Amino acid sequence: MLLQGATLLDGRVADVRIDGAHIGDVALDRLVPRPNEEIHDLAGRVLLPSPIEPHAHLDKAYTARSVSNPAGDLAGAIAAWYQYRRTLTTADIAIRAREAALAGVVRGVTAIRTHVDVGEGIELRALEALVEVRAELESIVTIEIVAMTSRPVTGVAGADNRALLRAALVAGADLVGGAPHVDPDPLSCLEFFVETAAEFACGMDLHTDETLAPGRLGLADLARLVAGGFPHPVTASHCVRLGAQPLAVQARVAAAVAAAGISVVTLPQTNLYLQARGVDTSAPRGLTALAALRQAGVNVAAGGDNIRDPFNPLGRADPLETAGLLVAAGHLDPIDAYHAVSTAARIAMGRPPVAVAPGDPADLLAIWAPSADAAIATASEDRRVYRRGCLVATTTVSTQLAWPPPARTP
Ligand SMILES: [Zn+2]
Repeated sequence: MLLQGATLLDGRVADVRIDGAHIGDVALDRLVPRPNEEIHDLAGRVLLPSPIEPHAHLDKAYTARSVSNPAGDLAGAIAAWYQYRRTLTTADIAIRAREAALAGVVRGVTAIRTHVDVGEGIELRALEALVEVRAELESIVTIEIVAMTSRPVTGVAGADNRALLRAALVAGADLVGGAPHVDPDPLSCLEFFVETAAEFACGMDLHTDETLAPGRLGLADLARLVAGGFPHPVTASHCVRLGAQPLAVQARVAAAVAAAGISVVTLPQTNLYLQARGVDTSAPRGLTALAALRQAGVNVAAGGDNIRDPFNPLGRADPLETAGLLVAAGHLDPIDAYHAVSTAARIAMGRPPVAVAPGDPADLLAIWAPSADAAIATASEDRRVYRRGCLVATTTVSTQLAWPPPARTP
């Protein structure tokens, strides 16, 4: 396959040859088509490494109309969701999860890490749904499943939830997950997750410190527990509390996180929505300490989190929306923001990077725009998505503008 005349991230125009699942050649001069080669004209389009969704909740997507969260905060969302999820069947979850995954694919996403609730009240139904959807969509998107253990995890009351996590890892979950900061004993909860991930030889992705309230930094505890090196990918998602710390604390924790090789995933949509409720003046933004983490060399990725559920009434499964929010609310440069939803997200998921260079995986997004900045600013829906060298989604936008105004008959 030959992609002709694409604008690259740095503004140069190139032809890109795809050989199988990888990029074979990138040339600023025209590449001569080979006999029977499929030719795609990408003039007027920017060709980017495809985005990756490092943090989704596909099992919760599109439930906002059925589950109300009048308080609009995290506690309200969890309480409403825990009640509602008892009613869900595997089939219902699979339908919504499939729709949300495909919404991401259409917008350029070639891999998704989704958390699925595992615990009393939903048991393994969400996991079973996602195992099914993961297999069903394997030809167009890679899905990774994090077993998100329900609270409580610790103590006598947590015994069933702990057993369900283990059952989920046997039944097809890829990573250990959960939210130690909402457990009655956050440190013991965290230690249990680290031990379980080690036992099952898998990575972990933990909802960490998703609050602006003062208190113990679970992120610092996690960095300490895996400081000796953990042999599988470790991700801390949210880390909102770190953003509310003094600079010296941010710098100290960020250095430990960098040394431990932990990726941090920030989730602007959901945390701008859930956090700072009841703060009527100079409301904080609910993001993590982006500058301190990046300065310390931490791999900082960004995800879309919730799509129209009690945790976030909006969301369109578009990493360019996430990148845009990182620019506005997190003060990242647009190109750095795109890095957070593509390369950094890939690193968090332990996948090879894509720089649109020979030998890289041919996981690419071609978007209608004159430059990468414009692509991020406009987030045009006019996109072509390539995964493993195959065109997996095409969206065409057609605009008619009544200018100059049509002549009127007198
Ligand atoms: Zn989440």
